[in-house]
Amino acid sequence: MAQILVTGGAGFLGSHLCERLLERGDHVICVDNYFSGRKENIDHLRDHKRFELIRHDIVHPLYVEAEQIYNLACPASPVAYQYNPIKTIKTSTVGMINVLGLARRCRARILHTSTSEVYGDPEVHPQKEDYWGHVNPLGPRSCYDEGKRVAESLCMNYHLAHGIPIRIVRIFNTYGPRMDPNDGRVVSNFIMQALRGESLTVYGHGKQTRSFCYVDDLVEGLIRMMDQNVDLGPINIGNPVENTMLELAEAVLELTGSKSAVKHDPLPKDDPQQRRPDITKAKAILKWEPKVPLKEGLAKTIEYYRRTQFG
Ligand code: NAD
Ligand code: UDP
Ligand code: UDP
Repeated sequence: MAQILVTGGAGFLGSHLCERLLERGDHVICVDNYFSGRKENIDHLRDHKRFELIRHDIVHPLYVEAEQIYNLACPASPVAYQYNPIKTIKTSTVGMINVLGLARRCRARILHTSTSEVYGDPEVHPQKEDYWGHVNPLGPRSCYDEGKRVAESLCMNYHLAHGIPIRIVRIFNTYGPRMDPNDGRVVSNFIMQALRGESLTVYGHGKQTRSFCYVDDLVEGLIRMMDQNVDLGPINIGNPVENTMLELAEAVLELTGSKSAVKHDPLPKDDPQQRRPDITKAKAILKWEPKVPLKEGLAKTIEYYRRTQFG
């Protein structure tokens, strides 16, 4: 039983993580400024006697006690992180320094959630942890990509200078219940469009690829990474099954039974063309690999949107 701080705990991934830690018997302090998270994600946890909720922006210093810190605070969808790019950068830099400062004072272990976006539009496929990436430092995604790259560097330098026990996880596209239905990510967009009978908006030709990991698998990977003592990371956590956006659209149409059409909208600038994690390291060190196939995870996500948005 540990005292665990989860920043970004009211977000999509954070809320599932808080839930799992409480189930395990931990004390959880959830910190969130609701920039892209939602109170309803954690409503069911509020009365839990080992759960504490603090409305706070990590760009400002934070003084609480913790033995472990999961740092998830940062908007993750391109629409959300490009809404206020300077704020996104501050969260990944100034915010990261504050959370590392807290880890230093408390002598806490900190797991930072980085992203496959540190690989940019990758020229190496699939992506391994030793690939340095191909990021446009000035493009519309740079506030997120470069912010996350600085955050990794800050973690490593706090580790080297102050001996902070760090864990760096590079998360690949993850989906599931509690993804904000309006956050613009492809899984939530397609499902909401299919359920509303609107056309599915495929950006560009739709042959670009992503690899989609179900949230329960991802959370298991985060906890295993935090709790092992051999590797600081970075470590890729994601599903190595790769799909085109057209394949994803077809799967959503089949599983919803929707008669929606597929239309093609312009491809956003710097949209990565392919993405698939090499998870050899996670398999070896964490004995982890995803278990939930895409269609099973999509069916659960569709059921969630049906119940909460159309119920
Ligand atoms: P999300 O937007 O649902 O959650 C992020 C949470 O952080 C939100 O609740 C938001 O309000 C909070 N937040 C943002 N800025 C903050 C600040 N300055 N202070 C306090 N709270 C703040 O996104 P998510 O999908 O749950 O992502 C969680 C983390 O995982 C993020 O760091 C993201 O970069 C990383 N990640 C997610 C994915 C994915 O596919 N879901 C992929 C790669 C990396
Ligand atoms: N900090 C925080 N909570 C703490 C300890 C530190 O928010 O419990 C912040 C504080 O604002 C500080 C930053 O973390 O500026 C970095 O702390 P560090 O100890 O690395 O450096 P300092 O700036 O204090 O020398
Ligand atoms: N995408 C799409 N239609 C949408 C939303 C996104 O075709 O309505 C595409 C987008 O261009 C990208 C992929 O789906 O190629 C994944 O986009 P998302 O925003 O979910 O995540 P990221 O680009 O950050 O991986």
